[in-house]
Amino acid sequence: MQRTKIADLLRTEPTGTTVLVKGWVRAFRNNQFIALNDGSTANNLQVVVDFEQTNPELIQRIKFGAAIGARGELVESQGKGQRIELKVEHLEIYGDCNPEEYPLQPKKQTLEFLREQAHLRFRTNTFGAVFRIRHALAFAIHRFFNEQGFVYLHTPIITASDAEGAGEMFRVTTLDPANPPKTEGGAVDFSQDFFGKAANLTVSGQLEAELGAMALGSVYTFGPTFRAENSNTTRHLAEFWMIEPEVAFADLNDNMDLAENMLRYVISYALEHCMDDLKILEERLIEEEKSKPQDQRSEMTLTEKLRFVTESHFERLTYTEAIDILRNSNPNKKGKFQYPIEAWGADLQSEHERYLVEKHFKKPVILTDYPAAIKAFYMRLNDGTEPGKETVRAMDILFPGIGEIVGGSQREERYDVLVSKMEAMHIPTEEMYWYLDTRRFGSCPHAGFGLGFERLILFVTGMTNIRDVIAFPRYPGSAEF
Ligand code: ATP
Ligand code: MN
Repeated sequence: MQRTKIADLLRTEPTGTTVLVKGWVRAFRNNQFIALNDGSTANNLQVVVDFEQTNPELIQRIKFGAAIGARGELVESQGKGQRIELKVEHLEIYGDCNPEEYPLQPKKQTLEFLREQAHLRFRTNTFGAVFRIRHALAFAIHRFFNEQGFVYLHTPIITASDAEGAGEMFRVTTLDPANPPKTEGGAVDFSQDFFGKAANLTVSGQLEAELGAMALGSVYTFGPTFRAENSNTTRHLAEFWMIEPEVAFADLNDNMDLAENMLRYVISYALEHCMDDLKILEERLIEEEKSKPQDQRSEMTLTEKLRFVTESHFERLTYTEAIDILRNSNPNKKGKFQYPIEAWGADLQSEHERYLVEKHFKKPVILTDYPAAIKAFYMRLNDGTEPGKETVRAMDILFPGIGEIVGGSQREERYDVLVSKMEAMHIPTEEMYWYLDTRRFGSCPHAGFGLGFERLILFVTGMTNIRDVIAFPRYPGSAEF
């Protein structure tokens, strides 16, 4: 007999039929009622054992966490809390679970503890919900881009260009670390390395995505990216997943529209398809907030917040306008910011981003036209800005509770402007000939952005630590599992 998934059973409720279900015991009450979960849904199936008819030794082995199979008839439930239940005719234990040794307990355990048990935490309600939602969001992202006619481009994970974020990359090498070949000057001789030159794990697929966009029109990447930055925050990972669309014949406004539409689309998708899981996380948050003082509790529940974002238009303003708001803000005047806003040109810190989103506008915000000096070389220089006050066509999308969720820009498509910018920023133009070729041959205005996938999941799940929305987080000092 084929097993039926619990999600399918609960969706159709085919009472009167005999089915086989397989899953893990979440609870066993009165030697009679098993709450069975098979991961296909947040909801458990009530499996009713007739203990007078069942071998007591078998009953003994029905423990929290054990893997079992149960065959029987689906009937309308007599009890409260569920409409249907399974009346067991045959029970089988696949894997016992000794409660004395099992690290998980059938009670609330802290996220910190569960992080140390990341190999087992999928089995909790919270993490089951998080990872089903993570999957749904990934699927929704692909669906969105597919509907919009984008080509999914797989950009390389190993790259030899150190154009971006030099010093923040993980080196990829097969040289003997204890005894690497040396050049005459005494430096490590990477010409003898696997690729014939120094190579790293990618920090972004953007530059390669641009190459694709210049022929395929609209492309996106969705893959892992790596940053060896020592940021021990709740919003940074050393290995995270990024979605990077790149569109030819698009300017910054098109780029903002694309990002906004995509975010609204995928959040709506979650609201439509993940309600059971969202409710679990919403209840978790409500519980958690009870221990906070009234004024620190959020005004909206999780699903209200998500709905609010799908219905609101993101506030768009320039960096310069944002600096004015921040400079005149109460926390700035009262010295409450850790990094006070003084002059134009300052990089915005997370505290400033969150002030704008959470206190001032109370909705998602898109900041544009940042000072050229604090942004990457490939961003398009705004025409007619004063010397010393040059700005670029950059955009950052800021979300409540998260801060920056998207960073993007219109790209500099003018060859001469790009080359002089690269020279000024000490980016090796010879090595980057392939990038510059797009500007030499059939260049055109184009734009794109990077969305940090885990930051999106943080927002949708209401989780607060990025290490809890990726299966096996990598961060400074930790690469467990
Ligand atoms: P931040 O200022 O928050 O460090 P960033 O300016 O370095 O971000 P970008 O280089 O623009 O970010 O990367 C694009 C997106 O990737 C960001 O908007 C964010 O969503 C995500 N991101 C960046 N760094 C990380 C990281 N270390 N872990 C997880 N997501 C990240
Ligand atoms: Mn960063």
